[in-house]
This record gives sequence, C-alpha cells and structure tokens, in this order.
Amino acid sequence: MPAKTDTGPAPETIRGFGPIDFIPGKKGGRYPYCHSLVLKGEETWVVDPAADKDYLRHLAQTRRVSAVFISHYHEDHQKYNYLFPQARFYVPAAEAPAFTSLEGVFHLMGLEDPQFRDYWRKILIKDFRFRPLTNLIPYHPGQRFQNGEIILEIIPSPGHTPGHSCFFFPNQDLIFLADVDLTPFGPWYGDATSDLEAFEATLDHLQQLKASTFITAHEKGVFTYEEAQSGLASFKQAIATRQARLLEMLKTPRTLNQLAAGHFFYGKPKEPPFVYLHIETQMLKKHLDRLLKQGAVRQTPTGYLAV
Ligand SMILES: [Zn+2]
Repeated sequence: MPAKTDTGPAPETIRGFGPIDFIPGKKGGRYPYCHSLVLKGEETWVVDPAADKDYLRHLAQTRRVSAVFISHYHEDHQKYNYLFPQARFYVPAAEAPAFTSLEGVFHLMGLEDPQFRDYWRKILIKDFRFRPLTNLIPYHPGQRFQNGEIILEIIPSPGHTPGHSCFFFPNQDLIFLADVDLTPFGPWYGDATSDLEAFEATLDHLQQLKASTFITAHEKGVFTYEEAQSGLASFKQAIATRQARLLEMLKTPRTLNQLAAGHFFYGKPKEPPFVYLHIETQMLKKHLDRLLKQGAVRQTPTGYLAV
C-alpha cells in the first residue's frame, strides 16, 4: 500500500485525556468497529458508538448517556446506537436524511442496483440494527457544544462523505479525526458522493490545526502532533501515488470495469465481491474524471487511454 504512515498497533486499553476517554474498537478498530470517545463532563456523551458492545452496554447501564455525536453516516460509526435510546443524536446536517431512512443511505452511497440495495438493507438492519433515528439534532460546521469543562467544536471535513466531521476539543488540546484515519490503506472515497478535491482540501485544512493529540476512528488511533502531521502528508501522497499508478496503467486502454475488476485499490479480491466492485468503481471514477479534466487521458472505443 502506498502511504507510509507510522502505523503502530491500535491501543488495547482505555486511555484517558482528562475527562475524555478513548475506547479502543474491537479488531484493532477495524470495520465493522471503530474507536469511540466517552466525554465525562456534567453529562456523559459518546462519540461514534461502535467500539465494543460490552463496554458500551456497561456504560449505558451505569451512566445516563444524554448525547451521542456521530462523525458521519457510515454504519461502522453507529453500530451500537441502539444501546442509548434516551440520548439525543447529533449528526451532520448535510447527511441527516441518511439517519432517518435507508433511502438516504443508498443515495449517499450511490447504490442503484436493486439487488445490492436488498443485500445492503439486510446487512444494515441485521448486523447494524439500523433504525431511523427520531431524537435527531443536525449539527453544522463551526458549531460548539459545551459539557462541563469539555467544549466540542464541529470541524467540517468533507471528502470521505459530504458531511464528514472532525471534532476539536480545545480544552483537552485534542482532535478526533474520525475517518481521516491515517491508515496505510490511504484515503477512502468509495461512495458516489465522496469527493476527491474536498478530501484534499480537508487534508490541507487539518494540517493547519494544532493539537497535542489526534485520535482517529480506526487502527492506530492515537497520534502525537508530529505523527499526525506525517500521517496527513502520507494521506495526501497516497492520492497522488494512486493517480500516477493509474496513469501508468492507462498506457494500454482499459475500461472502468476492467480496472475495477483488477482490484486497483484493495490489491486482492475481498468479500462480498459486488460490494468491493462498487467501491473500486466509485474511487476509480473520481481519478478518471480528474485525469479527463486535466487532459491526461482520453476515452477511446476500447477504454481510457493516457494521452
Ligand atoms: Zn466512514
């Protein structure tokens, strides 16, 4: 994989940053789990409740969790929403429809094939207990929320998804980067509504932010300022490396389907194949659109060809 991020193992134990607890996600914070935060101020709040069912269930039984903040609509960031039926759910305004209906989810993903929709509907309902949220409060860029000594500020960070948001905690000098996850895979933009240019602008913006701790939702999880800077630079580089590799492959004409079937991003077949074909296709499209716009490739009867 292209990015050379410093990728230590994910922490195995809870780490405290003042009143903010980092809860390591199961499987090293890999899908279908993510690392969560618990904010212990005057109230108890949770960020992206998908770390660990036993831990979060115990939390729900021993504390009154009054608010849940969700960074974006992906299922692996809200797997355990159902444990907090009393909570207010704060979600990005730009993605609000995806929290109230499966149609909203399919729209953001760009799922059009009826069979794929049926499959994904079953996965979301059975494995992720999707149900429309009713106690929903949309949040907006720059908005601040206070919970005792904790301030949570919404940092818009679109690209991965349109409403993807990072959370800045100025009093703890900490930023939650969510799925700007600095993993060796590199940036993920596999939804129809993911946006490559927006992702790059987000990386530029995040590189300007100062904090002593950066927390991602997957894998390594906890980064110093220096580690996060290097991780963000590697993420940017990963996009450029992918683009160059694609251009090299297009010295021979290839169709989008041929490229997607060749596991351009994942490097090997993954299950179920049609899910990964969708992701590969969506991510490739974004690079091909950019190359076309730049005049670096053209369409021929046998596929895209480098100019
Ligand atoms: Zn995501």
